[in-house]
Amino acid sequence: MTRIIQAIRGMNDILPDQAHHWEFFEQTVHEWMAACGYRNIRLPIVEQTDLFVRSIGAVTDIVEKEMYTFQDHLNGDSLTLRPEGTASCVRAVLEHNLLYAGPQRLYYSGPMFRHERPQKGRYRQFHQVGVEALGYAGPDIDTEHIVMCAGLWEKLGIADDVRLEIGTLGSVESRTLHRARLISYLQQHLGKLDDDAHRRLHSNPLRILDSKNPEMQQIIDGAPRLLDDLDEDSLKHFEELQRALRSQGVDFEINPRLVRGLDYYNRTVFEWVTDRLGAQGTVCAGGRYDGLVEQIGGKPAPACGFAMGVERLLALMLECGKDIPHAAADVYVVHQGEAATGFAWEAVRYLRAAGLKAILHCGGGSFKAQMKKADASGARFAVIIGDDEAHAAEISIKPLREAAEQVRVGLAAAADLLKRI
Ligand code: ATP
Ligand code: MG
Repeated sequence: MTRIIQAIRGMNDILPDQAHHWEFFEQTVHEWMAACGYRNIRLPIVEQTDLFVRSIGAVTDIVEKEMYTFQDHLNGDSLTLRPEGTASCVRAVLEHNLLYAGPQRLYYSGPMFRHERPQKGRYRQFHQVGVEALGYAGPDIDTEHIVMCAGLWEKLGIADDVRLEIGTLGSVESRTLHRARLISYLQQHLGKLDDDAHRRLHSNPLRILDSKNPEMQQIIDGAPRLLDDLDEDSLKHFEELQRALRSQGVDFEINPRLVRGLDYYNRTVFEWVTDRLGAQGTVCAGGRYDGLVEQIGGKPAPACGFAMGVERLLALMLECGKDIPHAAADVYVVHQGEAATGFAWEAVRYLRAAGLKAILHCGGGSFKAQMKKADASGARFAVIIGDDEAHAAEISIKPLREAAEQVRVGLAAAADLLKRI
């Protein structure tokens, strides 16, 4: 027997029974983004490798270990499946000069790819919804992003199960000062650093604070805090953000160790975290990246954004018991006989045009067998069409989910009736 080819580990199928959760999520997000004045941008899944190396940073987990990079064998280009969306979004904005028209509020959604060890909440193909505001210096826009998240959590039914952590990375200058202090601290504890930390000691010491190695936690806890080395403007930005969040009634904790896994962040960083999903508890993360536009080759422009992990948010919604209704069909049309089948086609066309969901039975079979299918489909009503009905241009409507009378009416009356009940 031929071996069945299976999906790639960490790249999941989303089956119909789950897909309606995704549809509910996507629709809620699209409506909310539109309500907040954000416009959709659709970006390619493959980009030049350099784009990610330059923006995310060469000495980061993503670029060092997690990218799906391959050579285009037609021209030798190095290409990468996008591990995140910010870099592509900024590239597209620059390539099409969108900033000439003024600041941009954008969002995108879709699959991202990272070669990580698959586990609950961590996949190799996963999905993000990302929001980017380019050309805004904040902190009002930083506040807006956090408030947008809070509003979305309400709509998704998870507001009570996530908490907000905020931090600041300061300016490039304050990070340079902090970097020197951090290196000298870590050098005093060389014996306790793991291999990654040794390697990053001089190339990217801040990233060491982001380590997930439990044996490193004690060293990390004792390290100097960036908050203590902050420049005045960054401190002011951070304080204004906190004030604005309080005025909006958004609760937060300050996490001085919030580093984020990408190099392009500065000033505000934030994460939304839940305790209900085990180790993979960060459902959304973001912050400012004022240097990135210039780093990718544009005229300097401040910016900020965030990305949420769709799989983790959906898992949390289920965990919180959020009921996501499955929209079953309104009618399942059974039919037998030549005239009946002809009229059945007409009936589904009419009912669908009237905004009803109608399944047409295909595959023939007795009325009894067709009625079984109608029942199994979950439809609210069976529409029964025999030659008799067809000749009278009428349909019989039989309720499948409640004990009520069957009625026989014309198409217009049927559409009215079905929409009313
Ligand atoms: P983590 O610390 O969990 O590795 P990260 O800092 O790498 O996350 P970001 O790059 O900030 O993640 O991505 C934003 C969000 O995307 C995360 O908060 C998370 O919800 C989701 N995410 C990131 N990587 C994965 C993955 N491999 N599988 C599923 N979701 C992910
Ligand atoms: Mg990661």
